[in-house]
Amino acid sequence: MYPDVTFIDDLDISGKRALIRVDFNVPLDDKGNIADDTRIRSILPTINYALDYNVRLILASHLGRPGGKKDPLLSLAPIAKRLSRLLEKEVRLAPDCVGPDVRRIVEEMKPGDIVLLENLRFHPGEEKNSREFGKKLGELAEVYINDAFATAHRTHASTVAVTEFVPVCGAGFLMKKELTYFARAMDNPVRPLVAMIGGKKVSDKVGILSGLCEKVDKLIIGGGMALTFFDALGYEIGKSFTEKKALDNAKEVLEKAKDKKLKLFLPVDFVVADRFSPSAETKVVTYQEIPRDWMALDIGPATVTLFTEALQNAKTILWNGPMGVFEMDAFSRGTFAMVRNVANSYAMTIVGGGDTDVAVHRAGEFAKMSYISTGGGAFLDLLKGNDLPGITALKNKRATKKAAV
Ligand code: AMP
Repeated sequence: MYPDVTFIDDLDISGKRALIRVDFNVPLDDKGNIADDTRIRSILPTINYALDYNVRLILASHLGRPGGKKDPLLSLAPIAKRLSRLLEKEVRLAPDCVGPDVRRIVEEMKPGDIVLLENLRFHPGEEKNSREFGKKLGELAEVYINDAFATAHRTHASTVAVTEFVPVCGAGFLMKKELTYFARAMDNPVRPLVAMIGGKKVSDKVGILSGLCEKVDKLIIGGGMALTFFDALGYEIGKSFTEKKALDNAKEVLEKAKDKKLKLFLPVDFVVADRFSPSAETKVVTYQEIPRDWMALDIGPATVTLFTEALQNAKTILWNGPMGVFEMDAFSRGTFAMVRNVANSYAMTIVGGGDTDVAVHRAGEFAKMSYISTGGGAFLDLLKGNDLPGITALKNKRATKKAAV
């Protein structure tokens, strides 16, 4: 699928100084402790592989949104500590990510040493894809590896500009895994391929639905997304979530599905509430009976049965977006029922998008999914068929190298 990308195991990295762009943008709790270290663990195969080849490892990541300024609350210090514990090896935190002190630390590194650069976004050049900042990062290393799938949809200095300034560039194992699973689902899927799309970023996702109509055998639409579709169809949806600017696109998706004779499933009932609150009064109604002053916050039991049936014979399932406001217990049943269905199906199951991942973890079913993508925005961009700038930069690099030969 990505024949133009060179991966770390195709490169001669032995003993070299390698700059590895990772995504350690982990959630922190209110005391600044790491709430979930999945993103750190997912890079371990690349780090361990590089250590086997005596690489001098320079890791670079962003954390949060410091807006180009130093913010001690967004230092990578807790991440250096956690990584050190996971690897049982010293991980030195550099005081910055560029500058004379960092250069000196990097020059003193011995084979197998690991230095974690301080938060890339403490510098405004990072998010502006500044060539100058990319050059300063690139000059630290002989090899550049991008393993930050969750940041690959951003055009930032550490994912794009930097590639101009390091002679050898490639992608890491996490990137390889993400792209391989994605290709298995979208390029050459074992059919029937069923996509289940929920959540509420409707205008973001409606473009994906149009593309999915071309590829999938069945399309299930739930969550806030489904309410926009009912709104587009002219049904009373009360005070439910809807995105008016996406109504025309929703109609186009419905037309396309009809033309393609695609099996499209919408909810047949909802859990409605008299207000957006965990203690709201609730009841189950059919899709034709949403009361004017109420809002639909979850799919109902008949819909769970319908969607369960629709998933029955699936061989590949792609899921993005929860079925309801699962953050509140009263509206979480639909999402958790679908988590269990997907987890227990015999299909290859690929889950992508931050909130769906949270729901799967909360239900304790993550180990039963074939793959949970680490990238929300990057995963959606791939689904839309967009190129990821972080990957394109690696491909361009390869093209330049070929042209130079
Ligand atoms: P997304 O980022 O598009 O996957 O959206 C996830 C969010 O959609 C979650 O925070 C859910 O609470 C929300 N959501 C799902 N269903 C509904 C609904 N029926 N009404 C309002 N919000 C919803």
